Amino acid sequence: MLDKVLIINTGGTIGMVHSEKGNTMSPLRPAENWNEIAKEHPVLKGFATDYYQFHPLVDSSDINPESWTKMAQVIETNYNNYRGFVLLHGTDTMSYTASALSFMLKNLDKPVIITGAQVPLEKPRSDALQNLVTAIQIAGNEFYGIRLVPEVCIFFRDTLLRGNRSRKNDARNYFGFSSPNYPSLAEAGAELGIKKNKLLKKSKGTFHIETALDDRVIIIEIFPGLKPSYLKNIFESIGDLKGVILKTYGNGNAPTNVDFIDVINSLTSRGIVVINITQCTTGTVKMGMYEASIKLVDAGVVSGLDLTPEAALTKLMYLLGKTEDSEEVKKLMSIDICGEQTLNHYNFKFTQNSPAKICKFSFEIPKEIAGGDMIEAALRIKNLSLKNKIDKINIRISIEGDNFIENIEKFQSIKTLKKNKDNINEDILLNFNKCVKKIAEESRVIKITLESDESIVWGDAVFSIYSEC
Ligand code: ASP
Repeated sequence: MLDKVLIINTGGTIGMVHSEKGNTMSPLRPAENWNEIAKEHPVLKGFATDYYQFHPLVDSSDINPESWTKMAQVIETNYNNYRGFVLLHGTDTMSYTASALSFMLKNLDKPVIITGAQVPLEKPRSDALQNLVTAIQIAGNEFYGIRLVPEVCIFFRDTLLRGNRSRKNDARNYFGFSSPNYPSLAEAGAELGIKKNKLLKKSKGTFHIETALDDRVIIIEIFPGLKPSYLKNIFESIGDLKGVILKTYGNGNAPTNVDFIDVINSLTSRGIVVINITQCTTGTVKMGMYEASIKLVDAGVVSGLDLTPEAALTKLMYLLGKTEDSEEVKKLMSIDICGEQTLNHYNFKFTQNSPAKICKFSFEIPKEIAGGDMIEAALRIKNLSLKNKIDKINIRISIEGDNFIENIEKFQSIKTLKKNKDNINEDILLNFNKCVKKIAEESRVIKITLESDESIVWGDAVFSIYSEC
């Protein structure tokens, strides 16, 4: 059996046939079985495959988390008996399914190749045969020298994509899918060129499935003119809401008006996890880059970095299904699970509410980060306030590891306070890219010292690190 591939048909255009034999004007219906699909294509009979069919076969518009659970269960039941799996699926929600399965199939070390077609297999100029044959070959690992593809992928036309990076971007052309923020995993021309260094590493753990998905989530796309009152009504009317994916502009920017921010604040104060992803096809959210995203940071919104909407939504469902602890969900949303994002984002928080001239805090660098992986590190301090009324104040900030002193003294610009006010209006924002990289190479701890000549309530500090996955 292990030389075989299991084809799992869930539905979609690929396996549809005309309801009246020979009448290409008659409506399409799902084929009854594999023979009906494969009968006109003897080439398909030459592959060592078994076939499993969902009942009923569905247009992928009807796919939901229960369908994903069923798919995961079929793969689990048959896992040890096949070299790999081909999942036939409608193209409309294929990227959602590919993303969901990537989180649900744990320690996957066999190919799960999802494919479909824009035109049914039985039509003369269909794209289905090429898609299906190549998907079977990749799942069966049939090409000399190809390393097993240990991940959930989409194969379409001539390209193999990581499932949780894929998007359907064309309803007409045969090249229907793209992977905007990650290269393709293979190109299928005259030869099949697998890009080994782009594949996930084979997992050492035991394969199992995790099917608890929490679907109490919603995606909201902002647009110029969006009325905060509409949003408020939507959110207030969903009593059990657990997570929101907010599709914002550019690098993660959103309106800054009080009403909009109030709506977001009311979500986060209800313990609802809000994830910021971009409406742009390519690129990443960089919260804090523009003032237009600082208020989202302050409201407790989490950066979804360069997650696709499909990956963000299914990752959020998966993590909410895993734990009730919304802080844990927020933390895990920013860390890569199975190749779905380009960077990891860690936030280390510290609060100091009583006045002092010196404020020290330290944190452990997560084990997964090596010095060389560090891309960016930044310190943000907000809500500073002064004990004594003075016009200006100097703040010194130093940063060091635990086994040597790398005292990179930063002289913070002079803060000018308005008369009779005891708050510092500006946040402190500093970049420590180079020194943190250096510290992380030699130390597992980062210590930060803030100093001034006056007593300060230092407020809330957040040290953010971005590292390569
Ligand atoms: N509506 C179909 C589906 O997603 C389209 C297709 O299969 O391409 O099931």
